[in-house]
Amino acid sequence: MNCQECHDCIDAYVDNELDVAATILVKQHLRDCVRCQQLLEARKAVGALLANPQVRFEVPDSLLGKIQSVLPASRSDVKQRSGSRFVIPWFSIPLALAAAIAVMLGLVFLNQGGMINHSRGNALAQDVIASHVRSLLATHLLDVPSTDQHTVKPWFDGKLKFSPPVRDFADQGFRLIGGRLDYINGREVAALVYQRRLHIINLFIWPLESGRTTAAESFATNGYNVLHWERDGFAFWAVSDVSAGDLTAFAGLEMQQS
Ligand SMILES: [Zn+2]
Repeated sequence: MNCQECHDCIDAYVDNELDVAATILVKQHLRDCVRCQQLLEARKAVGALLANPQVRFEVPDSLLGKIQSVLPASRSDVKQRSGSRFVIPWFSIPLALAAAIAVMLGLVFLNQGGMINHSRGNALAQDVIASHVRSLLATHLLDVPSTDQHTVKPWFDGKLKFSPPVRDFADQGFRLIGGRLDYINGREVAALVYQRRLHIINLFIWPLESGRTTAAESFATNGYNVLHWERDGFAFWAVSDVSAGDLTAFAGLEMQQS
């Protein structure tokens, strides 16, 4: 088992949903892989958080009825199975349910057609947050400190097999302060570093086989805001402790064609 495969089934492992053979493979990989051990610890921390009654809410009967009316029949018996009060943690709402709630609340669900597999997206978001935190804790925020995109972009040449798009948004309040090489999900990636007032935004970039463009998908966890989108054959992951609104504005700037 490699790290990618381990990432893909770590949630099922934590929830004891894997068969014996897969469980043994995960255990063997975890024994030898510090990075995946860290991922496991992060997942367990989320599980502990979900056990906290403060992150749960009771679904009113009126809302539950509306949800059930838009779900496939196999899901419409959730209430019967779970007793008279239907209590779910915010963070573990199944995707279909979350989408149904969002539609009914009149929200625009950001991603249309480009949504990556959500559990895989969550695993990547955890990786992205871990790299962001590491970059701030260690003395390794910048390999190439520069506010000049024409210095930062060529710096990656020869260090990566791709040339990431590099732009400065200082005029809009997001100043490019440099870049570095980083490592996400078993691959080398470009990390661009932006400053928003006193906050740091890490923007991780790597190439994709698909050349599609997707709207930003949000993964907010552990006090960080994470946005993911795809554009022109690249995956972008922005992470920061800036407000969700600020990070969305930043993503909007990046997504505009240069
Ligand atoms: Zn691993």
